[in-house]
Amino acid sequence: MSAYEVVPVRAFSDNYIWTLRDESRAAVVDPGDAQPVIDYLEREGLELVAIVNTHHHADHVGGNARLLSRWKVPVFGPHDDRIPDVTRRVGDGDRVTLPHFDVALDVMEIPGHTRSHLSFSGDGMLFCGDTLFAVGCGRLFEGTPRQMHESLSRLAQLADDTRVYCGHEYTLSNIRFAKALEPDNAALLALEQRAAAQRERDLPTLPTDIGQEKATNPFLRVTEPQVVAAASTYAGRALEGPVDVLAAIREWKNNY
Ligand code: ZN
Ligand code: FE
Repeated sequence: MSAYEVVPVRAFSDNYIWTLRDESRAAVVDPGDAQPVIDYLEREGLELVAIVNTHHHADHVGGNARLLSRWKVPVFGPHDDRIPDVTRRVGDGDRVTLPHFDVALDVMEIPGHTRSHLSFSGDGMLFCGDTLFAVGCGRLFEGTPRQMHESLSRLAQLADDTRVYCGHEYTLSNIRFAKALEPDNAALLALEQRAAAQRERDLPTLPTDIGQEKATNPFLRVTEPQVVAAASTYAGRALEGPVDVLAAIREWKNNY
C-alpha cells in the first residue's frame, strides 16, 4: 500500500468529494460535480484511478460521466440502475481494492437514506455518504426508521478510531438539534466549541470518528435515557425501543 492522504474537495454548497491521493494519483468518493475534481487534479498534477459511489443522488454521482470521458477508470457502486456509470457493482460483504493505492475497502449495504446506499470501510476509514453525518444521519427518502437504525448500528460497530468521511458539512446545525435532546452532554458541548472554531476559519469539521459519534450523535444514542425522554416528549407518548425513538427524532429534525 502506498502512502496517501485523504483530502476534501468541496462541491455545491456543502458537499465533500473525498479524495485519496498521493504524489501522482487520486481516487474520488461521490463526485457530484466534475469541475472541482478536475480543477483539483490539474492543480496537483494527479491522474484519476477510480471513482466510488455510495448512492445514486445527483450530488454524489453527477460528475461521474465527465470524469469518465477523460479518465477510463473503474466506478464502484451499488446494484442500482439509477447510476448507469457504475462498472463494478458491489454489495454487502464484497471487498473492493482501489487501484494504484492497493487500499481494500469492505462494502456494507446500509439502506435508510436510499434503498441501495453503500458504505466503504477499510484502513481506518469509513466513507458513508449520506447515511451517517457528524452528529446526525441522512433523511429517510427510501427507507424506514428500522433500516436506518440497523444501518447506523452496523457502522457503530466499527472501531472507535475509524475516521468517518461524510458527504456533507452539516455538523453545526446537527449539533444545534442534538443540544435540544441532550443539553448537558459534555462531549457534544466540547465538540460544538471545536466545530464552531473550525467553521469560523472555513475549515471542514470532518472527518469525525466512530467514538465521537457514539458520544455525541443522538441517532446512535437512541437508548440513552435523556434521548428517549426528549423523543417521547416530542412524540407526546412514551416511546419504547430504539426504532421508535429514531423515528421520532428523525421527524423532529426534519421540522427543526
Ligand atoms: Zn443523498
Ligand atoms: Fe447528498
